[in-house]
Amino acid sequence: MSLIVQKYGGTSVGTVERIKEVAKKIIEYRNQGHDLVIVVSAMSGETNRLIDLAKQLSDQPRGRELDVLLSTGEQVTIALLSMALMQMGIPAVSYTGSQVRILTDNSHNKARIVDINEHNLRKDLKEGKVVVVAGFQGCDEHGNITTLGRGGSDTTAVALAAALKADECQIYTDVDGVYTTDPRVVSEARRLDSITFEEMLEMASLGAKVLQIRSVEFASKYNVPLRVLSSFTEGGGTLITAEDPSMEQALISGIAFNRDEAKLTILGVPDHPGIASKILGPIAAENIEVDMIIQNTGKDATTDFTFTVHRNDYQSALNILNNTAEKLGAREVNGNEHIAKISVVGVGMRSHAGIASTMFDALAQDNINIIMISTSEIKISVVIDEKYLELGVRTLHKAFKLEQDR
Ligand code: ADP
Ligand code: ASP
Ligand code: MG
Repeated sequence: MSLIVQKYGGTSVGTVERIKEVAKKIIEYRNQGHDLVIVVSAMSGETNRLIDLAKQLSDQPRGRELDVLLSTGEQVTIALLSMALMQMGIPAVSYTGSQVRILTDNSHNKARIVDINEHNLRKDLKEGKVVVVAGFQGCDEHGNITTLGRGGSDTTAVALAAALKADECQIYTDVDGVYTTDPRVVSEARRLDSITFEEMLEMASLGAKVLQIRSVEFASKYNVPLRVLSSFTEGGGTLITAEDPSMEQALISGIAFNRDEAKLTILGVPDHPGIASKILGPIAAENIEVDMIIQNTGKDATTDFTFTVHRNDYQSALNILNNTAEKLGAREVNGNEHIAKISVVGVGMRSHAGIASTMFDALAQDNINIIMISTSEIKISVVIDEKYLELGVRTLHKAFKLEQDR
C-alpha cells in the first residue's frame, strides 16, 4: 500500500463545487488503494482578502495577529473538504497546523518548519481515514499560530511527505505541470515532463511561483518525489527529480521572471575599503534582503553603487540610503521601482559557452536595454525596464527555441 500526500491550491478549492470535484478525485485515488494525506490552501483570493482587511486597520499589523487572521483561510477549506468527503461516505478528519503540531520557529509571516508530530496522522491513516491538513500554517513552541509565507501550502505538503516518508507528493494546481515559462505570459510555453531539483530551485527563487521555493528545498533535501499536476485535467504532470547523469541535458530548461524588485543607486561615494559594508550594513540591519549588487570601478576617487531589493522594501531602503549618503558625503541617491528581472535557467549551461551572448543579442534585437546583469553556474539574470518584461520573455523563449520538443 502506498502513501501519497496531495496538495490542492486555491483555485482548485475556490468554490463549494470545486471542493466536491476534489473530493471525487480523492475518492478515485483511495479506491486504487492509496493512503492519502491531503493539504489544502485557502479558497482562491481569500488570503489576499484577509491581508486587505488587516491593511484597512493598520499599515503594519503585528505579525502574531496577522498570522491568527491569515490561518483562518485554510481552516475553512479543511473543514469543508472533510465534510464533502464524509457526505460521500468516506471517513475523513481535518487538522489545523497546530492540531497536527507542525512546529515552526517564531518568525511570524515567514516561519520555517522545525518538526512535525505525525503520530495522530498515522493512527488516522491506519483507521482508514483520509487526513486533511491545513496548508501554510503551524505553531511555535509556545503555541502561537504562525504562517509560512505566500505559497506556503506547497511547503506544508512536502514537509508532511518527508515526515511520513510518503511515496510521492503531488501538487495539484491550475496548470498541468511546470512549463518552460509561465504559460499565462507565453502561449507557446511547453510543459516539461521532468526538471531537476536544482533547476526548479532556481526557477522558483527567480520568480516562477508555481512552487514555493522552500518546498523544493525540502523535497531536494529529503529526496521526496515531487510532481506538479492539474486538478482540472488528466495527465502525468511534471516530475521534479535529482539530476540523472545519463540524461541528456537541455541547455536551457526555462525562463523565470519577477516584477517584485526595485533598484537603488548611490552615486559619487568616496571610494575606499569598507564602502560596500557601510552602504549595505544599515540595510541588512533593517532585515531588508538585497538581491543583485553592482559596484562600478571608481573614477576621481569616487564610485557608484547599485543594488536591488523587494519592491515592498523600496521606500524604507531609500530612506536608509539617503541617510547613508549624507554620512558618507555621497553626491546623489536615486531609485527605480519600475524594473523587472528575467532569468534563463539550465544545468546544461555549465558545459556550454555562448548562452549569455545569445541572450544579450536577442534582447538587443528588440531594443531592450539591459540595466543590470548577474550570473551563476546555471542561470543568467538581467534587469530591464518593467515595460518590456513580456516582450523580453517572449523574445528569449523564441531565441532559445524552448517551444520545440527536445
Ligand atoms: P496554487 O494556487 O495552486 O498554489 P499558484 O498560482 O501559486 O497556484 O501557481 C500556479 C501558477 O504559477 C500558474 O497559474 C502559472 O501562472 C504560474 N507559473 C509561473 N511560472 C510557471 C511555470 N514555469 N510553469 C507553470 N506555471 C507557472
Ligand atoms: N493561502 C496561502 C497563499 O495564498 C498559501 C498557499 O496558497 O499556498 O499564499
Ligand atoms: Mg501556490
